[in-house]
Amino acid sequence: MHIAQNIVRYAYVPFMLIVLPVSAYLLVSNGYSYAWLALILVTAFASAFAAEKIAPYFEEWTDHHAHGDTGTNVLHTIAHEVSVINGALLIPVITWLFPFEGIWPTDWPMWAQLAMAFVFADLAFMLIHYWSHHYAPLWRLHAVHHGVGRLYGFNGIVRHPIHQSIDMVIGTAPLVILGMPVDVALLLGVMISLTLIVQHSNVDSRLGPFESHISIGRLHHLHHVNWGTEGDCNFGLFFTIWDKLLGTFNEKPSREITAKDIGIDEVPNFPRHSFVEQMIFPFVYKPGQGEPDRYAKSNKTPAQVAKIDSMQAAE
Ligand SMILES: [Zn+2]
Repeated sequence: MHIAQNIVRYAYVPFMLIVLPVSAYLLVSNGYSYAWLALILVTAFASAFAAEKIAPYFEEWTDHHAHGDTGTNVLHTIAHEVSVINGALLIPVITWLFPFEGIWPTDWPMWAQLAMAFVFADLAFMLIHYWSHHYAPLWRLHAVHHGVGRLYGFNGIVRHPIHQSIDMVIGTAPLVILGMPVDVALLLGVMISLTLIVQHSNVDSRLGPFESHISIGRLHHLHHVNWGTEGDCNFGLFFTIWDKLLGTFNEKPSREITAKDIGIDEVPNFPRHSFVEQMIFPFVYKPGQGEPDRYAKSNKTPAQVAKIDSMQAAE
């Protein structure tokens, strides 16, 4: 088991962020059907689950059944993938709306186009993320992503669909208007999905010299702590350089982060087990005014309180 743990600790991130993206690239650049990209994503989720079982960062976050949120996660996955597919379908519409000859460097090798698109999207997502923590209407939507009390592979796509759409429109529409080809857009989407899965995976990855340069693992745990505003740092999707430039990079939490330190401090009873409630959440949550009555235990029957308590005890 020790050997397997060490393999996962060192191989998980390179597998997810080098082997899988390169495989996706080779499939698309050699003209294979886009459907193969679904296989890449399924492999990524399966690998994340396996890695979380073998070498978890926090044991307390691994028992999906005890957390009782599997159904919610499945619905979030469907909502996420539908919006990604919608985004891809919108590309021809946007190209039709902006019919000028794009300035996209289509004569560059595809890997160079993809690298440029990824760096741009990484910066754009970081800025949207920063504003999502500093501008109340956006925070209400983004809070759905922060409400759950643990981090794991699925967390990256636990988002409100409205926030997801804002991310996609601001983060990638400029690239499409500039003329980004569909092949590059789909590969960019795969790379962003893989990054989100790795960023939130509960895997004890060892990053060596890259640790303070990529925004995953401990750095991202610090972003998710429920200690007031201390988590308002490390907004990056992948590179930490944007946070370093903006002055929002923080490597050292004020105390050690434990498995129970994740979430939103003013909403301890966030509806983690209901997809529908999570969709309603941004419309009933008023930041800075405490927990909405709807979620306070005092408004629940004893049986409902007992259920919440037993689920929280499992976490
Ligand atoms: Zn955030």
